[in-house]
Amino acid sequence: MKNEYDIIVCGGGMSGLSLIYRALKANIWSNKSIILIDKEIKTANDKTWCFWENTISPFEDVIFKKWKEMCFFDIEDNGYLLNTKDYSYNMIRSSDFYNYTFDYIKSHSNLKIVREEIKSISNTASGCEVLTDSCNYHAEFVFNSVYQKPKLKENNTYLQQHFKGVIIESDNLNLDPNKIHLMDFRTSQEYGATFFYVLPTSDNTALVEYTLFSEKLLDPHIYHQRLKEYIVNILGIAEYKIIESEFGVIPMTDYPFERTTGSIINIGTIGGDTRGSTGYTFSNTQKTISNIIQNYKSKETPLGIEEHISRKHRIYDSTMLKVLAGGKYKGHQLFTDMFTKSKAYDILAFLDAESTLLQDFGIIKSLIPQYFFKPFFQSLLQSKK
Ligand SMILES: Cc1cc2nc3c(=O)[nH]c(=O)nc-3n(C[C@H](O)[C@H](O)[C@H](O)COP(=O)(O)OP(=O)(O)OC[C@H]3O[C@@H](n4cnc5c(N)ncnc54)[C@H](O)[C@@H]3O)c2cc1C
Repeated sequence: MKNEYDIIVCGGGMSGLSLIYRALKANIWSNKSIILIDKEIKTANDKTWCFWENTISPFEDVIFKKWKEMCFFDIEDNGYLLNTKDYSYNMIRSSDFYNYTFDYIKSHSNLKIVREEIKSISNTASGCEVLTDSCNYHAEFVFNSVYQKPKLKENNTYLQQHFKGVIIESDNLNLDPNKIHLMDFRTSQEYGATFFYVLPTSDNTALVEYTLFSEKLLDPHIYHQRLKEYIVNILGIAEYKIIESEFGVIPMTDYPFERTTGSIINIGTIGGDTRGSTGYTFSNTQKTISNIIQNYKSKETPLGIEEHISRKHRIYDSTMLKVLAGGKYKGHQLFTDMFTKSKAYDILAFLDAESTLLQDFGIIKSLIPQYFFKPFFQSLLQSKK
């Protein structure tokens, strides 16, 4: 069996499929032999990816729904309609994404897709080697998205964003289908920063997600119970049916993930594309892939790509994460101060690592400074190591 390729893509989830789809579309891999290795071929709707954007997404065709109106609720039951200017909040269902990308990539004869379990990925004298449960593969470059929890370094913070989301169906939904609850803190904060997303997907269906930032996961029944309490008592929906559900855990850390080790290029969560303070990954990964494509076009190599998240934004991210993990400035209070005292479109740019110093200043002055001094200096020192 042929086991020499130009490119091996390890993991065909969000980042692996995005990369292959976009590289083939951009014609940068037309002359390359490529193999995609994943232990499973995905088709199910196992994830819902949401992200805000003020430009056109590379996956515009597969966006299930977009909302222009976003609101925020604090724990005191005050609601705020956010001024998000030209940002929209977009939802992609993973089943649509998998089908869409697979349909396109599978017609390319220079791409092979195998279902095997990856055991190791390493650099060799002439490129890289991937060992699976049934074969050894060699290539000039490997793009890796197989995540393993890193061995944390001193001072690294590691929280988990864990959530249970349900799509509910009800004849009495009573929600505006054009408006989402971006963050709704009207729930108990006993386990850490805890909030709901509400994304109405039609007149009678909505995704409701119970989300926490904390060290430990909860007993499964608690997610269920809190969702029920919120849907009935806060949203006022007495009768509903759950038609889909998802559970997820996203690492929130300031661990400095390596983008490149020799000829192995890490993408997605393992490449550091998950923002430490928010868990959002989809749009960051697309920006990384844009930079990879740009590098191929200008230098014919994926090595030495420019990172779109600057050192300044990594320090902010790490500082925010440390403040959240410290627990003195409660998460609900921090986000309430942020969203009620500064402009929402600046916050979205800030959380997307695209804010200017002026925008940063507006956000920083909305927060209580005393909680930030120590975490900021720790993050600054950490970023120099
Ligand atoms: C339920 C859920 C919802 C999320 N929602 C959002 C959201 O709304 N917005 C957002 O920005 N981010 C979201 N995220 C975070 C992030 O976008 C996703 O985790 C995303 O899938 C990360 O992409 P990835 O390519 O790094 O990893 P994955 O998509 O998980 O892909 C990794 C691939 O590697 C394969 N693999 C793993 N180990 C092996 C092995 N040993 N051998 C072979 N194959 C292997 C897996 O099968 C998988 O296909 C969500 C995460 C989860 C879990």
